[in-house]
Amino acid sequence: MIPSVPSSRSLDIYGHRGARGLFPENTIEGFRAALALGVTAFELDVGLTADGVAVLAHDLALNPAVTRDAQGRWLPGAGPLIWSMPFAGLVEYDVGRLCPGTAYDALFPAQQPVDGARIPALSAALALAGIERFVIELKTDPRFPADTASPEAMADVVLRAIDAAGVAERSILESFDWRGPRHIRRQRPDIAMAWLTRAETIRDAHIWWGGPHPSDFGGSVPRAVAAEGGGIWAPAFADLTQDLVAEAHDLGLSVVPWTVNEPADMRRVIGWGVDGLITDRPDLGMTIRAGNAVMG
Ligand code: MG
Repeated sequence: MIPSVPSSRSLDIYGHRGARGLFPENTIEGFRAALALGVTAFELDVGLTADGVAVLAHDLALNPAVTRDAQGRWLPGAGPLIWSMPFAGLVEYDVGRLCPGTAYDALFPAQQPVDGARIPALSAALALAGIERFVIELKTDPRFPADTASPEAMADVVLRAIDAAGVAERSILESFDWRGPRHIRRQRPDIAMAWLTRAETIRDAHIWWGGPHPSDFGGSVPRAVAAEGGGIWAPAFADLTQDLVAEAHDLGLSVVPWTVNEPADMRRVIGWGVDGLITDRPDLGMTIRAGNAVMG
């Protein structure tokens, strides 16, 4: 048995895409099942359909590793863009099961399928009872501007959905493409923000951040986040160090790394004092947070 890491800070456990390690990602069925396990905070991904509906989808195009058509056939390759389809067409697809034999399937051996699960509207997820915190990721990609709505347009639609559901106080917006959150921050400083980073977006920050670059801040990503108005820095956990956590805290930022799935990794970042973590296995995260030993 490896002892859990004591920590004086509170720790938010966010289920990634619902709880991808356990249930089909970004589905209402997945959120409900995770809620039943006691998970109360979720990260979810948003795209915009051709007719302007915010829906839950991680990829810009339908992912063949999780998607069957109305006849039950697995997509042979990447499907149509979310942005190219009306909502009524999108809900024909079944996203309730991992495609057997794919690399993606092999990543999540504990995922329980829910055949028949559909791509939901964001509004359906925001209406679920019992969720204390939503981290809503805006899926725009500056390398592929024609493949989605503009970051500002998507952000505006998502903000309207948040306000319509009355969950502004419980919502955090995030994106690797900082233009959408920056657009909302200007008009709505009350909306909490998480600034996502990974090695590629830091390297190509001029594109992903729409202007700034770490070199403008002595190479410091936390300082770049603070310059946006602060809030949460959400780095890839493999890029995080104890010194970076301390630097971010000194700047008044919270630190919420992703996607931390292994108990040993959870203990390490918790020991550094992170404020939360995003994980495909929120069940393991909650167990470790409770101070109970988890093997691994
Ligand atoms: Mg995401």
